[in-house]
Amino acid sequence: MVDILIRNGIVLTQDRQGRVIQDGAVVIDQSRILDVGPTDQLVSKYQADIVLDASKQAVLPGFVNTHSHLWQSLMKGSADNEPLQDWVFNQLMPILYTSNQRLLKENFEGEYYASLLACIESIRFGTTTILTMDGLNPRICEAFQQIGIRGIHALQMADRWIPEEILQPIEKQVHDAKMIYRRWHNASDGRIKIMLGPCTPYICSKSYLEDIIELARQWNTPIQIHVAEAPYEVELIMKEQGRTPINYLESIGLLDLKTIAVHCIWLSDEEKNILKKYNVAVSHNPESNMKLGSGVMDLPWMLKQGVNVALATDGAASNDNLNMLGAIRAASLLHRVTHKDPTIINSHTLLRMATINGARALGLEKEIGSIERDKRADIILIDLSKPHTRPLGNVENMLVHCSLGSDVETVIIDGKIVMKDRTILTVNEEYVIKEAERIKCEYLEEAKEYKPKIRDSART
Ligand SMILES: [Zn+2]
Repeated sequence: MVDILIRNGIVLTQDRQGRVIQDGAVVIDQSRILDVGPTDQLVSKYQADIVLDASKQAVLPGFVNTHSHLWQSLMKGSADNEPLQDWVFNQLMPILYTSNQRLLKENFEGEYYASLLACIESIRFGTTTILTMDGLNPRICEAFQQIGIRGIHALQMADRWIPEEILQPIEKQVHDAKMIYRRWHNASDGRIKIMLGPCTPYICSKSYLEDIIELARQWNTPIQIHVAEAPYEVELIMKEQGRTPINYLESIGLLDLKTIAVHCIWLSDEEKNILKKYNVAVSHNPESNMKLGSGVMDLPWMLKQGVNVALATDGAASNDNLNMLGAIRAASLLHRVTHKDPTIINSHTLLRMATINGARALGLEKEIGSIERDKRADIILIDLSKPHTRPLGNVENMLVHCSLGSDVETVIIDGKIVMKDRTILTVNEEYVIKEAERIKCEYLEEAKEYKPKIRDSART
């Protein structure tokens, strides 16, 4: 007897051959995939406790969202027309100020409820693995544990540029980072992981970046960092370090570690080659880049050169959602129009960017990212029966260009059904929404009088 049998679905395995099984089945036992193949073969072979009929549904590995900031879920719809630097100062900093004041008083509930809300949204849209670059709040992983998502907390570190009243002392940052790592890394049977997230090359001093690199070396974990999101950053690093951002990161040894570089828009040809040389994974956030008017990364070059590009939503304050199907479609359209060439990207590649490439970027490709025997059972079922997905054409094309995030019906993570027929089974969704709304009101009230003090080095 096995735990779960999914039958009669169109299974898009995302395995090495990119196999699509038209009438396929997946067998799950405990947390892992036991078998995958044609329905008629597997139904005669296995008896299951739970049988999920996936007729008129696509069965995929869950989406891997390689970059977000879950606390920003409190800030959806709060800004419309601001470029990156103004958006950071006007929108993010007042909330960060309040959050920091609360952290100093060991009040951790803000990010906890924001994270739960963000995880509910993510799971509803088919994300089974999410990375969040968030501050040093120990309850973020508690949210991962409770809701059952596969979660990675990239501990956001910074010691400059940001106004002092928002920064925690470095000693406290390092102390809290170590505490969170000890408590949460590989918790819940490896479902929760910790890595380091120095925010950008200019928000950390060189010596702090070197300390963070050393810590990541000791932990043997990857580093995630925003790089070359706006021309401002390139100018500032050039002025202060006499090098381009990627050049600078190479010079201090950061790229010797497994690195996930987020955005990578404003890169020189030399920098792109360095990314390739060090096997840096790139997290592409098309909707955030479009909304903030940041620019367009050179996706065709990256793909042609074999750079591993994964997809992400970024935080809900710059997107303003955590919908991976939205990110997939946006990436498709953005690069076609930028290059005025509809052959520049295809649906098959886009789906791989949102699944197996994401797993590879996070160093989890042996565990997740495709539907293959012995991998962790992170699987989503997407409805294809609605008017906007009928009559059925090429399934990959339809998922990218017709399907909506809300078509995700059922989500399995680590072998457990976390959402069934669009109902989240692990937390009380209504209660989480209510608490998140209360906290947002409190944050805005507490931040009312706050005006960020711009440091001399903050702007050129
Ligand atoms: Zn970000």
